Amino acid sequence: MSAQHFVGNRHVSAIAGQAIPVIDPSDGEIYAEIARGDAQDIDFAVETARTAFEGEWGAMTAAERGRMLHRLSQALTERHEEFAQIEARDCGKPLKQARADASAVARYFEFYAGACEQLHGETIPYQSGYTVLTLREPFGVTGHIIPWNYPLQIFGRSVGGALAAGNTCVVKPAEDGCMSLLRLAELAAEIGFPAGVINIVTGYGHEAGAALVSHRGIDHISFTGSPEVGKLVVQAAANNHVPVTLELGGKSPQIVFADADLDLVMPAVIGAIVQNAGQTCSAGSRLLIEQPVYESVMDRLASMFERLQVGPAQMDLDCGPLIRQQQLQRVWDFLSDAHSDGIAVMAQGNIVSQAPETGFYQVPTLLRDVPFSHRLAQEEVFGPVLAAMAFENEAHAIHLANSTQFGLVAGVWTENGARQMRMARAVRAGQVFINNYGAGGGIELPFGGVKASGHGREKGFEALYGFTTLKTISIRHG
Ligand code: NAD
Repeated sequence: MSAQHFVGNRHVSAIAGQAIPVIDPSDGEIYAEIARGDAQDIDFAVETARTAFEGEWGAMTAAERGRMLHRLSQALTERHEEFAQIEARDCGKPLKQARADASAVARYFEFYAGACEQLHGETIPYQSGYTVLTLREPFGVTGHIIPWNYPLQIFGRSVGGALAAGNTCVVKPAEDGCMSLLRLAELAAEIGFPAGVINIVTGYGHEAGAALVSHRGIDHISFTGSPEVGKLVVQAAANNHVPVTLELGGKSPQIVFADADLDLVMPAVIGAIVQNAGQTCSAGSRLLIEQPVYESVMDRLASMFERLQVGPAQMDLDCGPLIRQQQLQRVWDFLSDAHSDGIAVMAQGNIVSQAPETGFYQVPTLLRDVPFSHRLAQEEVFGPVLAAMAFENEAHAIHLANSTQFGLVAGVWTENGARQMRMARAVRAGQVFINNYGAGGGIELPFGGVKASGHGREKGFEALYGFTTLKTISIRHG
């Protein structure tokens, strides 16, 4: 099987004719190839998107755009299993995760279909003899850099919002996670999207990605990925004065007070670190536990960790493989540092015997008494590794929660209502969950970070504002 770019509603080969092998993380085998795009392919895609913006798509009413997005949502729902299977194989996701992702992308398009007609400006009271109003206009051509951990979901939240606002899109998915998005763009063409509205150029970040974010024909960039690459993207965009939404990583704390309902806490804490084998920007990768319940919480967690099973995507266990060998090596490096610095492993899960040795499997690992300054408590592992530590009181919990460079998500577990509100206000993060974590994806809920976790918001209605530019019109009529 070989794949090409999808530009202007057509499959097109890379102009330079190069390809990249695609590896199945469950067995480490090459099963396909994708086109290796470069600056020439990006030029063509941006030009195609511009033509669509100045043509059929740009001329559509909000209601027509909404109908189109709704049709895409329905088509994705009808082909739910097909998309789940593609994502499971390409990214090594257990089927239940891949199915959840396939549901989420359909839901994003449903949500943004409904939002199209709700996006409007306002009139502003001004001096007598004037009428002042604002228009929310699309930027034009938006560029989207997507990572490999949730290709379908991140495409939905990013491209869904951009299209609803009236833009046309050029998307550069990650080289390790693009098969589902190529099929999605093809499906959009099949159901009647005008040519050039959704364009996919595959390839490496330093080639196709760098060409897209520095392109003079791009009017807005939405980047989801690592903090390091995020800096490069902002620098490239600055040269062209192009606005950027950055969704970067996290080291999100789960803060468990002694009065928490532990029956609620346990599955949520486990789910937040094993979901997608920990390769989730909002993974709850730090566990802060109030001292009096530290040992009992850790004991309960340890017995749950020991029952976790890891194996191929098709076996649909608690965890699939990591995305690639380098990611596995990254996790091993963290664990090796933990070992040499005397940090104790409290419990680990199991890799099932059917898992091929050539797959990229890592057991979920619970570490105890991690010093808050250690890299295991400060840096993003992006694997199923949970770093636990005790805290003394509320002030100490706030200090620990805010003591990393990140600020994406936090979970607070307590039955004390006043403390819930104090914690929600004191923790520096883009989202704070009280007695829940992640809200099941929360398509309607604005999402994004502070500090090194990024800036700008995606998801929900707020994302639509980010994909528009505001024009103020002042009319003097006497
Ligand atoms: P990455 O930054 O290496 O890659 C992300 C994307 O950027 C890929 O498509 C890649 O090809 C592209 N890219 C790489 N170099 C580029 C360049 N110079 N110019 C333009 N594009 C370039 O990150 P990754 O390893 O793919 O993903 C893991 C990271 O992403 C983690 O840090 C994770 O927390 C973060 N992430 C954040 C969110 C969020 O919403 N906040 C979601 C998913 C992943």
